[in-house]
Amino acid sequence: MDLFDLTGKVAIVTGGNGGIGLGMARGLARAGASLALVGRNATKSVQAVAELEGLGARAIAVEADVTDGEQVTAMVARVAATLGGVHILVNNAGTNIRKRPEDLAEAEWRKVLDTNLTSAFLCAKACFPHMKRAGAGKVLNNGSMLSIFGTPWGSAYAASKGGMVQLTKSLATAWAADNIQVNCFLPGWIDTALTRQARKDIPGLEDRVTARTPAARWGDPDHFQGIAVFLASRASDFVTGTAIPVDGGYSVMG
Ligand code: NDP
Repeated sequence: MDLFDLTGKVAIVTGGNGGIGLGMARGLARAGASLALVGRNATKSVQAVAELEGLGARAIAVEADVTDGEQVTAMVARVAATLGGVHILVNNAGTNIRKRPEDLAEAEWRKVLDTNLTSAFLCAKACFPHMKRAGAGKVLNNGSMLSIFGTPWGSAYAASKGGMVQLTKSLATAWAADNIQVNCFLPGWIDTALTRQARKDIPGLEDRVTARTPAARWGDPDHFQGIAVFLASRASDFVTGTAIPVDGGYSVMG
């Protein structure tokens, strides 16, 4: 449908070489966008680019550490020069260090905050001039159920993901007049490399998530194709500053 058509649009997806990011990239590719997948693991990126090309999309991989401001600036410049601008940014790269707060080192706290939150600010700031010049833009920020809830084993992660919601609101208010919409989506428990590790580390997690989720199952990265296309397309032009759960009902379960 025309409302969701992304033909001619260029999208950057950080952490787009796997998991939820690749799920979103598939949706954007199917809607017609050109894709730049940003990550550090070249092997994963090459495979992901080949998959998107198989869907008929133009796609490139850009190696960059999104915690590093200089690398982010160079990455965005390269995408704009290669693909012809930047219209959509998906701030998806993320990590977790699963420890109780009393055991978490300062460097570990900073790593999680830098990867999950500071990176989103750096990428959005670097993309802003391109979106302003284009007269429109979309920023999609990946939050979490831990944007809402707390947990004893993820103080830095929860702080970063709560921060993502507030960053979203502030960017949305700052850039609305430039026709740039900024929204956050909050994944429930999704089957990816990140949570495969969590299921090894936390006994019983697999079953607890299934039991609490009204949809009675874990999510799949492909469940994020729809929210990606909605928040990246004309369909969401009057939607900004929101935090939308994509969680099979996890966050509304009493
Ligand atoms: P993955 O581990 O598959 O994805 C994480 C991605 O982030 C990888 O593609 C990785 O790429 C990239 N990345 C990490 N650090 C950096 C960095 N410094 N610079 C560039 N890229 C980086 O897990 P998910 O798909 O699960 O996670 C994606 C996002 O979804 C994260 O923000 C996570 O917090 C969030 N999320 C996930 C949930 C889940 O249940 N799975 C629930 C809620 C939120 P590379 O390896 O190439 O560096």
